[in-house]
Amino acid sequence: MPKTQKKEIIQTPKGTHDVLHGDIRYLNKIIEKAQEIAEFYGFLPIKTPHLEHAELFARPLGETSEVVEKQMYTLRTRGGDLLVLRPEGTAPIVRAYHQNGMISWPQPVKLYYEGAFFRHENPQKGRFREFRQFGLEILGDDDAVLDAQVIKIMYLTLAELKLKNLIIRINSIGDKNCRPSYKKELANYYKRKFNYLCKDCKRRFKDNPMRMLACKEKSCIELKAQAPQIIEQLCEACKTHFKSVLEFLDEGQIPYLLDHQLVRGFDYYGRTVFEIFMEEDKKETISEKTENQAKELNKKEEPAAQIALGGGGRYDELSTIMGGRKVPAVGWSLGLERIIHEMKKMALPSEASPKPSVFLIHIGPAAKRRAFNLMEDMRKSGI
Ligand code: AMP
Repeated sequence: MPKTQKKEIIQTPKGTHDVLHGDIRYLNKIIEKAQEIAEFYGFLPIKTPHLEHAELFARPLGETSEVVEKQMYTLRTRGGDLLVLRPEGTAPIVRAYHQNGMISWPQPVKLYYEGAFFRHENPQKGRFREFRQFGLEILGDDDAVLDAQVIKIMYLTLAELKLKNLIIRINSIGDKNCRPSYKKELANYYKRKFNYLCKDCKRRFKDNPMRMLACKEKSCIELKAQAPQIIEQLCEACKTHFKSVLEFLDEGQIPYLLDHQLVRGFDYYGRTVFEIFMEEDKKETISEKTENQAKELNKKEEPAAQIALGGGGRYDELSTIMGGRKVPAVGWSLGLERIIHEMKKMALPSEASPKPSVFLIHIGPAAKRRAFNLMEDMRKSGI
C-alpha cells in the first residue's frame, strides 16, 4: 500500500500574521483613542483603496527610496495596469484630496485613516510585510501651529493609552530653496567617504545624498555622525517656521528632542520631520529649546537604537510632485503592531471584552429548539 503523504496546512506568507481576538481588543482600543482625539480636533475619516497605481508612489516617495526600490508589491492586471499594494498612506490621501475636489472645500482639510499597508521588508522585530497604521493629515495650510497640532495629537494618543517615557525626535530638513546647497555640501562630504558606503548608498549618492542619512547599515550610520547638518543651512523662512513649531510644542508641554540627523525615508518631506519613541533607559522626558543644549543631550543621553512607534512631517511639495497645484500639508502615521507590543509589554489593559450576564442551558431536544429563539429574544430585549 502506498504510504499516505501527510499534508501540511498552508501557513501565512512570510512577514504576515493572523490577528486574534486578544490583539484585536488592543487594536480597537488604540484606534478608538486616536479617533476620539482626531475627531475632537475636526479630522474626518477617509478610506482609500488597498490597490493604487504604481506611479502614485514612484516619484513622490523617490525612485531610489527603500520602499520604491525594493519593497513594493507590484502586480500587472489582466488589463495591463501596473498596480501596487499601498506601501504608505500619504500619497493616496493627496490623490484622494484632488480626485474628490477637496481643494474647493474650506481649507485646511483634516483627514484621518486606519488600515493595512504592505512592504516587502525583511521581517524582524517590529517590522512586518503587512502592518497596520493609523494616520492623519492636514492639507491646504502651511501654518507652523498645524505641525505642532499634529505632533500634539500623536503624543496625546500614546500618552492617553498610558505609554510612558515618550519622546518626539524632531528636525527641519529645509525646503526647495535651502536644501539644494545642503545636498551639495553633503555630497562633498560623502564623496570623500565613498569607499566606506554600503552598496545601496553608493547608488543613492548620485540620486539624493540625503537619503544616505536614513540608511540603516552600520557603516553608514557611523558616517552619518560626522556629516554636515542641515539646521546650520536653513533659509530664514524655514528657520522661522521651525522655531515657531518648537515654540508651540513648548506651549503645549510636549516633550521633544532636537535631532539634527533625523531625515525620513521618503522624498516628499520638507521642513518639519519627526518620529516618536519610548525611551527605555530614562526616567523623565526632556523638552529643550536651544540647539546647543540639544547637542549636549544628544551626546550624553543618546539612547540605544530604538524602534519608532510613529513618524511624519511636512510635505508642502508632494501635491506639485504629483502634478497638482501646490497644497502645503503635514501629517503622520503610527505603527499599530508596535503600539500593541508596547502595551502588552507594560501589561496595559486592552478594550474590555463584553461580559455575559446570562448563561442559557437547555436539556433535551424540545428545550434546545426553544432556546434557539429565546437567545434572540434576549438580545432584542437588550440583555
Ligand atoms: P513610515 O510610513 O515609514 O513613516 O512609518 C510610520 C510608522 O509605521 C513607523 O514608525 C512604524 O511604527 C510603522 N511601520 C513602518 N513600517 C513598518 C513595518 N514594516 N512593520 C510594522 N510597522 C511599520
